Amino acid sequence: MSTLPLFDLAGRTAVVTGCNTGLGRAMALGLAQAGADIVGINRSDPGDLAAAVAALGRRYVDLNADLGADLSDRGGATDLMAAAAAAVDGRIDVLVNNAGIIRRQAAIDFSEADWDEVMAVNLGAVFRLSQAAAQRFVTQGSGGRIVNVASMLSFQGGVRVPSYTASKSGVLGLTRALANEWAPLGINVNAIAPGYMSTNNTAALREDAQRNEAILARIPAGRWGDPQDLTGAIVFLASDAARYVHGHTLAVDGGWLAR
Ligand code: NAD
Repeated sequence: MSTLPLFDLAGRTAVVTGCNTGLGRAMALGLAQAGADIVGINRSDPGDLAAAVAALGRRYVDLNADLGADLSDRGGATDLMAAAAAAVDGRIDVLVNNAGIIRRQAAIDFSEADWDEVMAVNLGAVFRLSQAAAQRFVTQGSGGRIVNVASMLSFQGGVRVPSYTASKSGVLGLTRALANEWAPLGINVNAIAPGYMSTNNTAALREDAQRNEAILARIPAGRWGDPQDLTGAIVFLASDAARYVHGHTLAVDGGWLAR
């Protein structure tokens, strides 16, 4: 139980995409710690996540690739949301659009495939799942929460990651656009922009000694973020504590953007 009732998620169900690993896993566990049951949309085996959620006294259900959980495919969002609700008590309260990919290559040589795939997962799927969740929230009649995962490259240009930057900048804009239309429906749409966090997604950067040193030197907090550093932000944005917060992208970045 949360110490503050406003942050308590008991009785809520959160759908989290890409929670078999990294930031998604940490956010799923944070939401479960605050009381939520979790439905994971994963194309890979979530391993011990179900057991870890159960150890917190909450339910975990996984919707895997058999149900169309590969988010690079178009379509299927409505079915996925319906399956998510059916897997629990028939309703969902929170959608966390976390799944994302990155492709690194000089813009001048960047392939169409690396453009299309990143845009499809990082932006297209975010829109389609958000739309399907919002339709469900409206039918359920008691609002809902959508939390998108943005990036430092929602604010900055980056180098050698043109589709990633375009997609994450799009996530920031889409978060605002959807918030404007859905706030009157009782749906809060917000985003978290993680800084440089230690996950698979950034393994290549940490393995490059020069890049690693340059990144660390620029982070005021002086360290890479740990996935668990997102717990406070995700619980806040999923909870009643954020009921008047709409269209905001919250940086959790060790001070990176403040530099
Ligand atoms: P990760 O590579 O560890 O995890 C990505 C997750 O997305 C995995 O669960 C993967 O299975 C899922 N996924 C990828 N493609 C998918 C698809 N087609 N269908 C379904 N699921 C798919 O990376 P992470 O660092 O945990 O990243 C999570 C999110 O955070 C991403 O959106 C990423 O862009 C964002 N992010 C990460 C960092 C960082 O420093 N790690 C910084 C800013 C933003």
